[in-house]
Amino acid sequence: MSPDPDELVEATEPPPEPMLEVRGLAKSFGDTAVLRSVDLDLLPGRVVCLIGPSGSGKTTVLRSLNGLETPDGGTLRAPLTGLEVDFSEPLTNATRNRVRDLSAMVFQQHNLFPHLTVLENVTEGPLRVQGRPRAEVEEEAHALLDRVGLHGKSGAFPAELSGGQQQRVGIVRALALRPQLLLFDEPTSSLDPELVGEVLSVMKGLADDGWTMVVVTHELAFARDVADDVLFLDGGVVLERGAPADIFTAPREERTRRFLDRLM
Ligand code: ADP
Repeated sequence: MSPDPDELVEATEPPPEPMLEVRGLAKSFGDTAVLRSVDLDLLPGRVVCLIGPSGSGKTTVLRSLNGLETPDGGTLRAPLTGLEVDFSEPLTNATRNRVRDLSAMVFQQHNLFPHLTVLENVTEGPLRVQGRPRAEVEEEAHALLDRVGLHGKSGAFPAELSGGQQQRVGIVRALALRPQLLLFDEPTSSLDPELVGEVLSVMKGLADDGWTMVVVTHELAFARDVADDVLFLDGGVVLERGAPADIFTAPREERTRRFLDRLM
């Protein structure tokens, strides 16, 4: 029987280009090797959750991806933007800027400017750093604020909002930069328990919309529900990686098992 032509086409299609391909990421602070050799692959529209004990290097991975730390070694490729970085060589300012522009980060503490309104907090980066036209930036900001349930809050100051609302502004501020990649560093860990759900549900909505995301989190139910891949970091290496269904139900490594037992 001759093969179905559709199947032939599918079989010869090249694999999709990754959004991000990180190899051997290494970072030391003084004599302490915080990241030893971290690999990370991310296809467009996928969500990776980083889990692991405190001090295992999760935040340092995010900060390295966002250009807030400069790794000592390893490579980063973002084929869709043509970016290729070898961290073992000195980086030019142009390369640093391209690394920064690739992603936007949502922090544990939202870090909003207290003296600026919600709208000003959101538009500050696109206007001042990216130099985009005000009318376009403000229109987009209003749409994004609506999208996360903050309609009517654009003139409020951060102190007039709940912690969950503030963190949603933090998310909108990241989205407004139009990054390729969203990075979340424990975005709910400083919130009162009753406010965690509204932020996780916004994040789940972004994943459903097709955003590519790297999320550091202790919210295992979220990771199970939303992540395509889970990486368990321990001592600056990825000790175990896999689909959430595999890692959470049948971890291969004893250390992963003990970590999960403590959290669940
Ligand atoms: P995690 O996010 O998994 O808790 P981090 O990436 O924040 O881990 O930190 C990993 C290790 O690196 C910790 O031991 C931390 O103390 C250390 N570290 C992080 N940032 C710095 C820094 N700027 N200077 C010195 N040590 C640091």
